Amino acid sequence: MPQKIAAGNWKMNGLRAARAEAEAIAAGAPEGVVTLICPPATLLGAMPEGLTLGGQACHPAESGAHTGDLSAAMLADAGAAWCLAGHSERRTDHGETDADVAAQVSAIWTAGMAAILCIGETLEEREADRTLDVLFAQLDGALPEGATAANTVVAYEPVWAIGTGKVATPDQVDAVHDALRGRLEDRLADGGQVSLLYGGSVKAGNAAELFALDHVNGALVGGASLRAEDFLPIARALAAS
Ligand code: PEP
Repeated sequence: MPQKIAAGNWKMNGLRAARAEAEAIAAGAPEGVVTLICPPATLLGAMPEGLTLGGQACHPAESGAHTGDLSAAMLADAGAAWCLAGHSERRTDHGETDADVAAQVSAIWTAGMAAILCIGETLEEREADRTLDVLFAQLDGALPEGATAANTVVAYEPVWAIGTGKVATPDQVDAVHDALRGRLEDRLADGGQVSLLYGGSVKAGNAAELFALDHVNGALVGGASLRAEDFLPIARALAAS
């Protein structure tokens, strides 16, 4: 079975006082689920022992003259075991292409971390009936050779559902995850074991129906991961699924 994963993406939110929320998340994380938080890199070293951590993005190079950037090795050194790659906000804000994302995924693996590769279609692409074409192109272009269920998780995040309060319907998520599972099985020897997360306005109130779907193995959560009282019920719904 793919691992169940509840991943929180704090984005550009959190000062040192956020440690209290992280402590509550670590203390309340249920058995049977990888509960992880991707805080801003400034907070990685300030997070409590025992909380599984991820980076939000990395530079593909190991080191060098890249002012303001962070290498995957730096994130791992600061305590991250996972790292996001290809989040739509990075693609939009920083113009990251699938080739850029592929290079980041390779760097994440080289640093000994597992990658959470984010893919997703815009509303315009969905309305033009291009959702699967877009997702397959992102998956093929951003996932390098060498991917396994141990080093890679795929997060389906429709761009129109991120931070908007609009959740994809269970039918929409089911259709996409079923297609992604097939694509991963075609490409990877252990593609059936790769965890597939849904992301896009997941909350306690909609998590259980998403986790009931066949190929939804967890969630990537933005806004509702900032507070333990919002995030833990999602992790618990996953444990119960
Ligand atoms: C995200 O940032 O990946 C995300 C899904 O955000 P939200 O849960 O706030 O929509």
